[in-house]
Amino acid sequence: MTRANPPSVAGMILSPAERARALTAAVLDGPDLTGAACTGHAPLFDEPGPREPPEAVDARMDAARAMCTICPVIARCATVADGLTDYQRAGMWAGIIRGRPRTGDES
Ligand code: SF4
Repeated sequence: MTRANPPSVAGMILSPAERARALTAAVLDGPDLTGAACTGHAPLFDEPGPREPPEAVDARMDAARAMCTICPVIARCATVADGLTDYQRAGMWAGIIRGRPRTGDES
């Protein structure tokens, strides 16, 4: 299946809609993520917003990572993330901050 790549713009922040489109495309073209613990909590997993305070980002990422640790499809999620570009996967996937993390983030 061929899918259009989003524009490659360095430093661009994914909107929730763009992230949802990337995840949908990945799911439709990859492993089944039915039962994902993050269902209904997608904004927790987005990359840091440009004006989001660091402590808020840390708290959000901690909450997201906690969901990932109990997620029944974490291995499949990691496979999906590995198949995406940094642009598409910016944010938390399978308990790891991917894409373009802030300086100092590690996972
Ligand atoms: S491992 Fe984390 S990001 Fe991946 S599907 Fe599960 S809860 Fe969502």
